[in-house]
Amino acid sequence: MALLFDSVVVPEVAIHGSDLGYPVRRIYCVGQNYRDHVKEMGGDPKSSPPVFFSKPADAVVPSGSRIAYPTATRSLHYEVELVVALKSGGTEFNADHALECIYGYAVGIDFTRRDLQAEAKEKGRPWDTAKGFDSSAPLSPIKRSGCCGPGDARIWLEVNGVLKQDAQLSEMIWPVSEILAQLSRFYVLEAGDLIFTGTPAGVSAVEPGDKIRGCIEGVGEVEVELVSGAEI
Ligand code: MN
Repeated sequence: MALLFDSVVVPEVAIHGSDLGYPVRRIYCVGQNYRDHVKEMGGDPKSSPPVFFSKPADAVVPSGSRIAYPTATRSLHYEVELVVALKSGGTEFNADHALECIYGYAVGIDFTRRDLQAEAKEKGRPWDTAKGFDSSAPLSPIKRSGCCGPGDARIWLEVNGVLKQDAQLSEMIWPVSEILAQLSRFYVLEAGDLIFTGTPAGVSAVEPGDKIRGCIEGVGEVEVELVSGAEI
């Protein structure tokens, strides 16, 4: 069937070393998955199960983009994260099956309107406007995983060349296999699903003019420049 609007397209992400694009079906995110970040947000890492939320698929933007500072916030925070890209999925599967579903990994930034998130937490409201806004998910090209994942790689983020976040993937509270297994209890996972796996400590606000660069050793890097809305 022909569609009413040809302006609606499937969002896609580049694949390292390939001409093919990775079609994005859904974006899931995990909150509070590094102890030091849970503490800096005022939570208790021992008592916190994984917190899931989502972003719209078209929130992805490629590395190298200039991004307009979002409307309706005075506190835009970066969060560098390991992102898992699925090639298959399922429902209610265990951690052993989870690793078979992974196509590859990327580096993502989970941009957050921290002021709206704090208000949502306080009032017990949904996080959608704090997390799922336009251009809130910059992503590096996806790197296909071989037999194993990135291992205990360094993950870090710089703002204008100044180191802000610096951790190891082994500091995650919930490993990737467990995140996927837990997520499959709530959703049928499929090829094209991206999962942001949480951020380490060191989050803070950025402003128009800032250049934000997130990296994971052996996976890649994503860099974006924030500009005022009038400059786009
Ligand atoms: Mn996050």
